[in-house]
Amino acid sequence: MALTGVQVFKLLPKTNCKKCGFPTCLAFAMKLAQGGADISACPDVSEEAKTTLGEASAPPIRSFAIGTGDKAPKMGAETVMFRHEKKFVNPCAIAINIKDNDDSLAAKAEEVANSEIDRVGQILRVEAISIECASGDSATYEAAVKLAAEKAPEAALILNCKDAAVVEAAVKAVADRKPLINGATDENAEAMAAIAKANSCPIIACADGLEALSALTEKIKGLGVEDIVLDSGAKSAKEIIVNNTQIRRAALKKSFKPLGYPVINNVIRDNAILEASIASVAIAKYASIIVVSSVEKWKTLALFTQRQNIYTDPQVPMQVEQKIYEIGEPTADSPLMITTNFSLTYFIVAGEIENSKVPSRLAVMDSEGLSVLTAWAAGKFTAAKIAVFIQESGIGDTLTNKELILPGQVAILSGALEDKLGDWKITVGPREANAIPTYLKGRE
Ligand code: SF4
Repeated sequence: MALTGVQVFKLLPKTNCKKCGFPTCLAFAMKLAQGGADISACPDVSEEAKTTLGEASAPPIRSFAIGTGDKAPKMGAETVMFRHEKKFVNPCAIAINIKDNDDSLAAKAEEVANSEIDRVGQILRVEAISIECASGDSATYEAAVKLAAEKAPEAALILNCKDAAVVEAAVKAVADRKPLINGATDENAEAMAAIAKANSCPIIACADGLEALSALTEKIKGLGVEDIVLDSGAKSAKEIIVNNTQIRRAALKKSFKPLGYPVINNVIRDNAILEASIASVAIAKYASIIVVSSVEKWKTLALFTQRQNIYTDPQVPMQVEQKIYEIGEPTADSPLMITTNFSLTYFIVAGEIENSKVPSRLAVMDSEGLSVLTAWAAGKFTAAKIAVFIQESGIGDTLTNKELILPGQVAILSGALEDKLGDWKITVGPREANAIPTYLKGRE
């Protein structure tokens, strides 16, 4: 919010009527300035004030989705320069570029559709396909766009074609998917904006340098298109860092609206390692979309992992629910192991139990998202707390033999835990998760 509470107050009716739920107009103004209230709560505010406040309270980086449906990647809405200040909101979407005259277009689009993986409880995927008009032929391009849309029905589509006459037919063919049009230049802005506006699609503004880009976004906005993605023409890693940082800083620190939009970076290189490295730079430095040349598992896994780490909330540990998880189809005789609820710990331990093929139970105790040793050191994974958790879970009543396997790293707790749990046998398991399969198989 660019306006202070006092500036907002000056725009309100100042009758203190309380209809907004606040005792005074000033109290409402203060809350509004902090982003904690909506101007629509005041029924008596003037239209003029609404417009002023609406513009002032708009997010500094415009937020919208490309494509349709639950999986449509959202972008924009970021409010900070650094993730230690606050969580980055919308993860950078990964798009693969496919030429319209590429014989393997269908197969590549299917790779995007099948790119989904589950990593530490989150589903990660390549979200978009950029279809490049390499043929220059309208019919070829439209057919390619339709084929990509058919083979990857949930992917967002980016129509990479600067020829308005060619792109118009393709946009119409997949208008229900709300493709991102790539894009508008100073030369074709009128025609491209008209297509985007007629089909309610977002558009990429392409210019060399930030000055030209700012002028172009103002022009496109003036033509009635609000959802704009910025392509500053940055190619090298250095240009990507410099341009993306200046764009984010201008939007957040200077409230400079012409650059208050998500950013796209094309990182395609002949050398796959170099491409992955530059993609990684762009993800780290504010890209909302990166365009790569291919879906290869080693590359996507590296980029997924980096993206996932950057877009988690640094102030909230990743954690899973406290409960007894069944892995395989355990019976009353199956082993019962225990660990803490730090996501990474849970998924590593659960994965190793799965690898063992020994049906088991894994008791996951709430340790406020801390790993085993950290939780023990912080007094959150103690014998007394484990005993309460195990007793309250009632799991003992379902087992033939009451035996609990402790992580080897906290073997020190075994004596005290045996005292607390009374009729339970406490066994010390492996120190490292990768020893779990051998350990569990050895018990059979
Ligand atoms: S409803 Fe409007 S006029 Fe009434 S107290 Fe709230 S802000 Fe003031």
